[in-house]
Amino acid sequence: MAGYHSNIALEGKGEIDSYTFHCLNCISGEAELVTVHGDLVKKSKSDQEIRETNFFTAPGMIDLQINGINGVDFNSPDLTAESLISTVSYLLSKGVTSFFPTIITNSPAEIKKYLSIIDEACLLSPLVSGCIKGIHLEGPFISPEDGARGAHEAKYISPPDWDLFCDFQRAACGRIKIITIAPEYKNSQEFIKKCYDQGVFVSIGHSLAGSESVANAVKAGAKLCTHLGNAIPAMLPRHNNIIWELLAQDELYITIIADGIHLPDAFLKSVIKLKKEKAILVSDATMFAGMPAGEYTTHIGGEVVVDGKGKVSMKKSSEFLAGAAKDLLQCVQVLLDKKIVTLNDAWSMASENVITLLGKNAEYDQDWVLFQVIDSKIVIRGVVKNGSLKFFNP
Ligand SMILES: [Zn+2]
Repeated sequence: MAGYHSNIALEGKGEIDSYTFHCLNCISGEAELVTVHGDLVKKSKSDQEIRETNFFTAPGMIDLQINGINGVDFNSPDLTAESLISTVSYLLSKGVTSFFPTIITNSPAEIKKYLSIIDEACLLSPLVSGCIKGIHLEGPFISPEDGARGAHEAKYISPPDWDLFCDFQRAACGRIKIITIAPEYKNSQEFIKKCYDQGVFVSIGHSLAGSESVANAVKAGAKLCTHLGNAIPAMLPRHNNIIWELLAQDELYITIIADGIHLPDAFLKSVIKLKKEKAILVSDATMFAGMPAGEYTTHIGGEVVVDGKGKVSMKKSSEFLAGAAKDLLQCVQVLLDKKIVTLNDAWSMASENVITLLGKNAEYDQDWVLFQVIDSKIVIRGVVKNGSLKFFNP
């Protein structure tokens, strides 16, 4: 044990709870001391040699792709600023200190509606605007081909349209920071260049691009790819396919859904080994993450079944996944349970690697997590956002 609790008397405040944790930094391996007095939290380097502890500190996790969580769907007509705000404390309790709510292909009017609700939530709450580092727009400039488009509605998909994108960006008050597009359209390269110039990250996804289009996209400034290995046809040519093309681009970051359901273990292990610090975990979670197992009707009319293991499938045909239902913490846990990577690597893929992609910034030092590992399970003990304690479960 390396956590201690005591009551200390503070003048004028009476007795307050005080806690001390001797920890190891999960990323650097350095000894650190965390103290909590009432609602004040402090983390400092420790000179003490720590031989044995199951307490760790780590940067807060950042989810680049999340469609909803705990009953709130960011792409539903029911979305309100209040319901979006409610997801922030839930995500903080799971160690996610920053996230990019993801808006998918829809009619321009619907997309703009959701974008402006996110902006409204950010304006209403400084905590929310601190946690939402940007919006991820996934579509509508993606491939219309079956298999590549996944669950995105074909009738709203179009080639890149800069004017429409500017319209979206106005509705979002400039908060769109990531856009997933297919680079195989004639004007994709030009579109990517414009996004790059405006500081919007272009992610390649829902695409059947060949070697030349992928290379041109990277040349134009594309920085990452969206959920590698998903949203592609089940049957692909074994050598000439987009997975190899994306993996062969040294500069490109990859994001992967590591819920243990969307990708097989060997795929996860191989791509993580290849991309190293350019591998990033995303949850791609739907509103079903955090909800009890059962049958649900979605707003687009589909009936889905959520099992107890984080799998969401269509009720009519259970072989078809209807989204992901694990948060980022559960994805890290999956990688540990399957012994695919170490704790250090798994947590880095959900935090440090993302920070490197987004650009190191002192703000991120103020977001951190205290957790304990008990019987190989991560238990979040404290979450600090912007220097203040937002969740504490000693
Ligand atoms: Zn997708």
